[in-house]
Amino acid sequence: MAERNIEIKRAIKEITETGKLLWQKGWAERNAGNISIRIEKYIHDNEEKNLKTKKTFYKLNNKLTNLSGKVFLVTATGSRMRDIGKNPDESILTIKISDKGDGYYILSNTKNKILPTSELIVHLLIHQELLKNKLHEIRAIAHTHPTELIALTHIKKYADEKNLNKLIKSIHPENTMFVNEGVGFIPFLLPGSYDIAEATVKSLQKHKLAVWEKHGCFAVGKTVSAAFDIVDMVNKSAKIFFLCKAARLKLQGLSEKQIQKLSVLMNNLH
Ligand SMILES: [Zn+2]
Repeated sequence: MAERNIEIKRAIKEITETGKLLWQKGWAERNAGNISIRIEKYIHDNEEKNLKTKKTFYKLNNKLTNLSGKVFLVTATGSRMRDIGKNPDESILTIKISDKGDGYYILSNTKNKILPTSELIVHLLIHQELLKNKLHEIRAIAHTHPTELIALTHIKKYADEKNLNKLIKSIHPENTMFVNEGVGFIPFLLPGSYDIAEATVKSLQKHKLAVWEKHGCFAVGKTVSAAFDIVDMVNKSAKIFFLCKAARLKLQGLSEKQIQKLSVLMNNLH
């Protein structure tokens, strides 16, 4: 069997390492969460033989012409983040979008039949939008369930993009410095639906992270690690918020002046 290409090997390592972190953080209960990475240079090997088998073609309801012929690694439906590292070949699939962009082929040769995550359409629509906007370097997408951030969206006041961002920035300086554009907020919609996919794509045009009310979030980055970092920084604010609340302490928060200074500092660094 031909040597698997280096980029795929690296991507599998990224997914397995981040999957483990998501589990350790408590953000990936059961089979929660999913990850995808666009592969830049796919070296044809034995997997490509599967293209000739009609069995492995899966039709999509959307035409993704911008993704024609593109190859992605995606986590499998039902796979557990904590277990990906134990058996990456049965937890991560290589898929290739058809030339017409109307479906995908599964290239992986797995022992058991596995299918991509149920959120595949959200991932693919985001990847398509990234390419349309020439954001070629952003290749990784992660969906996870950051506990404290979700908890915030259960509070009426913070189930609102403006209030949520104001709170996030007022608690942790990192969020002004590295997530200055803020996070998107999507009111509750059914997971896996076209509606949530469309809303997420729209939200990620302006943000690196979109929060799904009472569910979780989607983050994008150059690498899976970078997407994880965004979630980690944003969730930290939420965590500090609840720590103060649990101790019955009044949260002082950073002042607008302090936030402004952090913003200027960051702009000067760029
Ligand atoms: Zn989810």
